[in-house]
Amino acid sequence: MFDLHSIFSSNGMLSEHIPGFHVRSQQLEMAQAIADAIERHRVLVAEAGTGTGKTVAYLVPALLLGGKVIISTGTKTLQDQLFSRDIPMVRSALQIPVTIALLKGRANYICHYHLEKSLQDTQATFASRDEIQYLHHIARYAKNSKTGDKSGLRDVPENSGVWQMATSTRENCLGSECPHFKQCFVMEARKQALTADVVVVNHHLFFADVMLRDEGLSELLPACNTVIFDEAHQLPETASLFFGESISTGQLLDLVRDAKIEAIQGAAEVTALTNAIAVVDKSIRDLRLTIKEDNIRLSLAILKHNTDFCRALDNLLDKLTALVKLLESQAERSEGLENCRQRASNHLYVIQRWRDETKMRDHVRWIEVYHQALQLHATPLTIAEIFQKQMNASPRAWIFTSATLSVKKDFSHYNHEMGLAAAQTACWDSPFNFAEQALLYVPMNLPEPHQQQYTDQVVQAALPVLRASRGRAFFLCTSLRAMQRVHELLLQADEFDFPLLLQGQGSRSFLLDRFRALNHAVLIGSQSFWEGVDVRGDALSLVIIDKLPFASPDDPVLSARIEKMNNEGRNAFMEYQLPRAVINLKQGAGRLIRDETDRGVLMICDPRLTTKAYGKQIWQSLPPMKRTRELAEVEQFFAQREAK
Ligand code: SF4
Repeated sequence: MFDLHSIFSSNGMLSEHIPGFHVRSQQLEMAQAIADAIERHRVLVAEAGTGTGKTVAYLVPALLLGGKVIISTGTKTLQDQLFSRDIPMVRSALQIPVTIALLKGRANYICHYHLEKSLQDTQATFASRDEIQYLHHIARYAKNSKTGDKSGLRDVPENSGVWQMATSTRENCLGSECPHFKQCFVMEARKQALTADVVVVNHHLFFADVMLRDEGLSELLPACNTVIFDEAHQLPETASLFFGESISTGQLLDLVRDAKIEAIQGAAEVTALTNAIAVVDKSIRDLRLTIKEDNIRLSLAILKHNTDFCRALDNLLDKLTALVKLLESQAERSEGLENCRQRASNHLYVIQRWRDETKMRDHVRWIEVYHQALQLHATPLTIAEIFQKQMNASPRAWIFTSATLSVKKDFSHYNHEMGLAAAQTACWDSPFNFAEQALLYVPMNLPEPHQQQYTDQVVQAALPVLRASRGRAFFLCTSLRAMQRVHELLLQADEFDFPLLLQGQGSRSFLLDRFRALNHAVLIGSQSFWEGVDVRGDALSLVIIDKLPFASPDDPVLSARIEKMNNEGRNAFMEYQLPRAVINLKQGAGRLIRDETDRGVLMICDPRLTTKAYGKQIWQSLPPMKRTRELAEVEQFFAQREAK
């Protein structure tokens, strides 16, 4: 039996092997609680403030006691970090021989079959000269790579459309019928995941493949003794997405593209088939054109009045039905055509269910519109029961951890949303000295956020603070429109010559590298910079938040959930909207103090923090910073900081 006290002590195994390790009582307590949950197959929801060292706190008991463990995290970057840095580090400190596997979604691995097909017929795939060149790069890489992970090939941009021609989807993978099955990178990654002691996945993959649907991974969860979700505050959103049904015009166009290639190669003389594919292609594009806006979510209630959309959707249904019939008549000629038949009929089924309002009455129907694509969604009004059912399938330990899960140490919102009523909960505050290290500033005299000119006044209030901090700030906005306006106003501001960086002017990692290197820049961002960003030291000394981050009540899923709760006699604002805003705000505020030596100011501009009764609940949920409403005190804070 092992002794966690000794492992986490100042002369223990971690201290000996991990550079910079120091004893933190919160970390040891968290590790003990997790060890206990693992041993008793319990559900534990654990909040650990910044600096607790939660990754090591869960890795030690997981590696020593967890049996077969799945660790799921929020992003691919964090996944890579766990797989290549954190787990090997803890494993070698503990000197135990556990095996680790990294598993990503199939879109991350090159597919030999589709790559070969695309190379054979670049005309049918409408590949450009650049794309053809990229396809050849990918083919060379596929020959030499052991994993086929596309992140290893830097010569082809990650967002290039060519990847769709060289990777597979759940629908178009031929599985055991595939001529390349034995060399398949996806199958190899899964094989390794099935035999490894610790498998690192991300939340999308967990819900899309491990928990729900993909047959190739159906053995993974049942064989597992412990599941750990890091960044667990993201789960309600991710789970909602995957417990629902959706279909995008992108998926339909992928089908059209593959069907075109398969028809040319396997049934070239059947002109009716090629014509039907072309007609479906047009009707998919016509459907997208019926919505003029981009980046918008629309509920079915609104769409019902859009006759162009309704007609285009019915037309697509007709044309897809005809294509399914033709594919049925040709499917036996090749595996590729049979695969297209199956996909076309699955897609048809999903669209028919979405269109038929007598089906899925406990789901919200809505669409999301992107620049070139459109996605139909049916999202469950609540995920609690579905998730609970999946969890109860067999006994194992479930650990949910993040820096932001509770509202003033109350987990009822999170537990209710995820169906974790019987879970044990625990909370460890950050070991940082917030009263010394940070100042919360709420300026006086700002108007209510719904007032016109609100953003202009926020910038006026922020300018002296930005001058006092000499840039070195994140300006976090709750909407893209506000973000643009802040950028415009700062560009025009007098006596303000700090470099400005704007979300969207480069990748997130590029902007963060620039921000660190410039050392006195102001980065203006929206959702992308609210979480998962770690800038330590003086380069980030001020975080400004324009408004309390309440989700927009126009969001179709949110408004349907609010309506449901209010109809049940509950108070949707207090039970749902407010806790979500608090968790979001804690994420944004958490960017400021990242280690024991960081010092800085959090400026929250929204007057509701002090004027509304619920405001107290919000600021009391934040770390215990010193609070002020006086600009002079903020200026003094920065002046003292400079003097040190
Ligand atoms: S098995 Fe699927 S993913 Fe693997 S090469 Fe074949 S089609 Fe591609």
